Amino acid sequence: MTPSKVYYFDNNATTRVAPEVLQAMLPFFTEQWGNPSSAYSFGSGIAQYVAYARRKLAALINADPREVIFTSCGTESDNAAIYSALQTQPGKRHVLTTTVEHSAILNYCRSLEKQGVETTYLPVDAQGLLDLEQLERAIRPDTAVVSIMFANNETGVIFPIAEMGAICRKHGVLFHTDAVQAAGKVPLDVRALGVNFLSLSAHKLNAPKGIGILFIDKQTKFQPFVVGGHQERNRRGGTENVPYVVGFGRAAELAMSRIDEEQTHVRELRDLLETTLLQTIPDSRVNGVQSPRLPNTVSISFDFVEAEALLMLLDQVGICASTGSACTTGSLDPSHVLAAMGLTPAQARSSLRLSLSVDNTEEEVLFLAEHLRQSVQRLRSFSPLAKTTPGKVAIAAH
Ligand SMILES: *Cc1c(COP(=O)(O)O)cnc(C)c1O
Repeated sequence: MTPSKVYYFDNNATTRVAPEVLQAMLPFFTEQWGNPSSAYSFGSGIAQYVAYARRKLAALINADPREVIFTSCGTESDNAAIYSALQTQPGKRHVLTTTVEHSAILNYCRSLEKQGVETTYLPVDAQGLLDLEQLERAIRPDTAVVSIMFANNETGVIFPIAEMGAICRKHGVLFHTDAVQAAGKVPLDVRALGVNFLSLSAHKLNAPKGIGILFIDKQTKFQPFVVGGHQERNRRGGTENVPYVVGFGRAAELAMSRIDEEQTHVRELRDLLETTLLQTIPDSRVNGVQSPRLPNTVSISFDFVEAEALLMLLDQVGICASTGSACTTGSLDPSHVLAAMGLTPAQARSSLRLSLSVDNTEEEVLFLAEHLRQSVQRLRSFSPLAKTTPGKVAIAAH
């Protein structure tokens, strides 16, 4: 059975392409399909649209357009920043990052370890935050780059990137932030943040999958990760994906105009969802609740419930949610982010990530909350660890 309506609460996994973005892209699949590097005007005339999109993305993060290169995705941007930092400083073979990064950073670091690069993964506390003094102490003379995400994709916890940037500058070490989850949800200003590199991905921002940008500060040396033609001022080979570049630029414009809505409408809906769940479902806890968080994200644990089973019940009524990062679905390991925050494997496996967007309505939020309440109650009634009495849960002796 496929439910007719989709209740989409997984916007940290991917977002809907906005109608305005699709409209902006269409001419570049049909009439205007030339190569922007061509000599004749049918091709070269396209370059102005790429330049326009680059200006809009630069404006979104307060960068100079020349500091922005287009890549194939957020993952490539993340890899490219770390790769370049190592290549341009051959004597430095240490990368400093955190235990809660996206797999685009964590698994790239693991592959670098096999090539002899040393890595340090900073731990987080129970609220998902890093100790800044510990960060400073972990910087070594051979540290090539510090890479720390702006906001966590599973919990929404926001790190104080500007303060971290100041620490890195003080020690003369390059600093990259994966801001994929922050774009469009909170204001981003590369100058205020003091970062050398910053990554964004279009499909987390109502544009298509398969395109990203990397901000490279103009004072920072860069060695390309994808080597080929002279595109992107020799910083990224490969013919520009013009339709997607144009769509990403339009999405940046929309994001700038909607950031207030994200801060008010989306935050109100998220808070309504969170309070309703906490009030109606006993033994539930919001992860990272005391930390600064993205306005759209809830990570919530329901004791004695397998979140995978919960997802199946929600799916039956058309609700899309996830247990953690979409990039780690299919691995049975509990979330590395929740484990890093000190949750037990059972607690981590009882956790759900709900991520909202400006498209969600109050009606949808209340529908989700009611189905969650019923589903949790149903699953607990089968659980040997939980004994459900109306409105109250007692822990069975074990
Ligand atoms: C989605 C995501 C990525 C990867 O972006 P892709 O465009 O899917 O490669 C990287 N980092 C974070 C924090 C993300 O949420």
